[in-house]
Amino acid sequence: MAVEVTPALACGASVTDHVHLFVSAPPKFSPAEIVRLFKGIPSRRLKKEFESLRRQYWGKNATLWAEGYDVGTAGHVSAETIKRYIEESQKKSFQGLRYQNNCATFSSMKLIAQVKLLPTPEQANALRQTIEQANAACQFVSDTAWETKTFRQYDLHHRCYQAVREQFGLSAQVTVRAIAKVADAYKLDRKRKRAFKPTGSIAYDDRILSWRLHDNTVSIWTIAGRQRIPFACGERQFELLQTRQGESDLGLCNGMFFLSATCEVEEPEPIDIEGALGVDLGVTNIAVDSDGQVHSASHINNVRHRHRRLRRKLQAKGTRSAKRKLKRLSGKERRFAKDTNHRISKKLVAKAKDTNRAIALEDLQGIRSRVTVRRSQRATLHSWAFYQLRSFVTYKAKQAGIPVVLVDPRNTSRTCPACGHIDKANRPNQSTFSCVVCGFAGFADHIAAVNISRRAVVNPPIVAHHEAKANQSLELRQSAVTSHLL
Ligand SMILES: [Zn+2]
Repeated sequence: MAVEVTPALACGASVTDHVHLFVSAPPKFSPAEIVRLFKGIPSRRLKKEFESLRRQYWGKNATLWAEGYDVGTAGHVSAETIKRYIEESQKKSFQGLRYQNNCATFSSMKLIAQVKLLPTPEQANALRQTIEQANAACQFVSDTAWETKTFRQYDLHHRCYQAVREQFGLSAQVTVRAIAKVADAYKLDRKRKRAFKPTGSIAYDDRILSWRLHDNTVSIWTIAGRQRIPFACGERQFELLQTRQGESDLGLCNGMFFLSATCEVEEPEPIDIEGALGVDLGVTNIAVDSDGQVHSASHINNVRHRHRRLRRKLQAKGTRSAKRKLKRLSGKERRFAKDTNHRISKKLVAKAKDTNRAIALEDLQGIRSRVTVRRSQRATLHSWAFYQLRSFVTYKAKQAGIPVVLVDPRNTSRTCPACGHIDKANRPNQSTFSCVVCGFAGFADHIAAVNISRRAVVNPPIVAHHEAKANQSLELRQSAVTSHLL
């Protein structure tokens, strides 16, 4: 590696709060020297030098190496030792480590498994009260924070802990979590008072929630004491739960209780690929691939149109019951689109995998600053369903070891794949492409997908990172747009 010191970092593996490093160095360096050398490297330079590690360890909340780092043990490490280390880690349910080129590499992705709780009416009551009390506590802490201008978690804890315990009947752990949640909220912005919805989801860690996968139940803390509650989930979710780690969220949606658990899944090794399956995502035919296959969702649009009419009527009415109906409608529409997006993305990824191709999508980062955005895109840029499909394709591809390549979106629908002529006139209308120079013609979205596929230069790691980053900001945008729709 390109660090000036001679010992080189062979690999690293991050464990919850620290990182394991394997360093290879010539024999003239003593272990103590190696430790000193690495400790002496400023974190800024480390971040710069170890670009690949940075991708893995400098996530949204990761503060690894922010204040320098430490190597706990030093000594000679043989290939055997590293292999043993990997085996041991896997035993400790720390998965995702793999032996590669004489070192252990860590690659995993976080997925959310969602299960539905099946409480008795009494348990449902307890769960609801717990959620309401926890959120009321958050609101209380937020009020205090705002009034006293106390925003740091430590200070808030001192100021509110006792009062929250006494007033809201919450356990110590739930109280700590509520305070942390408020402190987190103010971390983003201290200029605005934070409000907490009465039924917002609340976080549980292993101390207040335990999963019993052998009989599909959880033991969960509520204000009416700990409850053993059965849960239901699909096969895939159940499989995911085996790798669950850390926190779960308890949420209430349409009168039903859900637990969302964070699961750490090993990322499969990338498969050997040749070429890319270009995918054009649009409104009319949700996805068209470069083979010309239309992953049609005409029924989605039908439903949407029907809903739009209904929505207008209800909005005009404006009564309370009309508002309730509107809310139900948008939930229904969202679930429907989500289901369709799952199906389409699954089909696309399966196709790419079967034909050993990467998936190419248009790169939408920074698209607002470009002038030549297609109309179909402009319409969908603000649609969360469109973004959802993109993110589904991306994570499903990642799970299947298929690289996702992002290409320059400029003129994908105006470029002639036969002669390369770029002209607005090549696209006489929404659905047709007809080259004004050579006469090559076809279905416009298909042509766009072909162009996308051709622009793809298969370069997996960079792209995967890029898209993951894009998805973070996407989530924010999605929620903003969703509430706007309601
Ligand atoms: Zn042409």
